Amino acid sequence: MSRKTIEDYKYTGDTKFDIKGFKTDDTGELLDRSEAVDEFVHNLLKINKLQQKLYAERKEGVIFVFQAMDAAGKDGVIRTVFNTLSPHGVKEFCFKVPSAEEASHDYLWRFWQALPARGNISIFNRSYYEDVLIGRVHELWKKQVRPDRLQGIDIIEQRYEQIKEYEKYLFNTGTRVVKIFLNVSKDEQARRFISRIDEERKNWKVSSGDIKERNYWDSYMDAFETMVNKTSTKNNPWYVVPADKKWYARLTVSRIVLKTLEEIDPKWPKVDEADFETVQEFRKELMASLGGTYEEADKPLPEFANPGIIAAQIVENEERSKIVAKKKRRKESGFAAVEKLLKDKPVISGLDEIVEAVANAGENYGNAE
Ligand code: ATP
Ligand code: MG
Repeated sequence: MSRKTIEDYKYTGDTKFDIKGFKTDDTGELLDRSEAVDEFVHNLLKINKLQQKLYAERKEGVIFVFQAMDAAGKDGVIRTVFNTLSPHGVKEFCFKVPSAEEASHDYLWRFWQALPARGNISIFNRSYYEDVLIGRVHELWKKQVRPDRLQGIDIIEQRYEQIKEYEKYLFNTGTRVVKIFLNVSKDEQARRFISRIDEERKNWKVSSGDIKERNYWDSYMDAFETMVNKTSTKNNPWYVVPADKKWYARLTVSRIVLKTLEEIDPKWPKVDEADFETVQEFRKELMASLGGTYEEADKPLPEFANPGIIAAQIVENEERSKIVAKKKRRKESGFAAVEKLLKDKPVISGLDEIVEAVANAGENYGNAE
């Protein structure tokens, strides 16, 4: 099977999105999650580096919008794909049922405050698209107050146009909007709801409201399909991501985020020449104040903030110093070892522990999975 790319899931307004024909359990050319780990971790590492440049360059802002039915895996995708990013420069906004104050304004009002500054990323966990999803399914606009001159207008139809214009405006003023619809099947949603009910640690995620919305499944599918078809453009595309397999959805979103940042292609800013000379003078003064020599500062602690970074560091380490000699399955065994280590021992005290696990993993570990 030829390799699938995110282009296969991208809608720019040229082709029609047919939700009934969409394969929600697609995994591209990959057979199972073990085939995704390597690329996923590399993607995170690349995303991390690009984001540092994006932030330093301060030219373009990016919004990643996530929409989905409940239990499609929005939160997990956001947690895993964005958790290697530096907290400065990235913010998540969860948009819930509008507050009384929000509802007393136009529906786009609450999003202005959440727009990213240049160089920053905003993650919209739900967005103004709710106004053409739940808003359309339950005809919520009928309950909203509006002047007489606006009675009898097709509000939802107007909103598609307004949203398109809004995103066009954002694009032309320096902010990209990348929209991601995690498309899960009704059966998979049922399985996930059951596990939320059965597993104590997931109980907090169950709400009777979610179960009620499930009864409107077909209307929601209609609303999602129309949303994608009416608001996809070349500059602000929709990606429809198969979401029945969590590992594939996460890999695909990492590909989308990476591709977006690669397209932006941020560069380290250059110091301007006059400044550079001043700085060189300053350097001489600093050196003189230290008596002409200095030793480099100690290396900081490794960035062990999260498993993504740990795994990314493993890749770098493995590549740089060839810690694991058994070349053939080197990377796979390294990843598997880190995964196992993290499962047994969620708090890792140092790089040595990881290096040892990788080194001890041996050739066959990857095969055993
Ligand atoms: P989780 O359940 O994973 O914590 P969530 O995003 O599902 O996250 P909830 O508080 O369960 O959070 O749901 C938020 C609800 O707010 C959703 O049902 C969504 O449809 C609703 N909502 C968001 N925006 C609007 C809007 N503009 N009008 C009406 N309802 C909205
Ligand atoms: Mg919910």
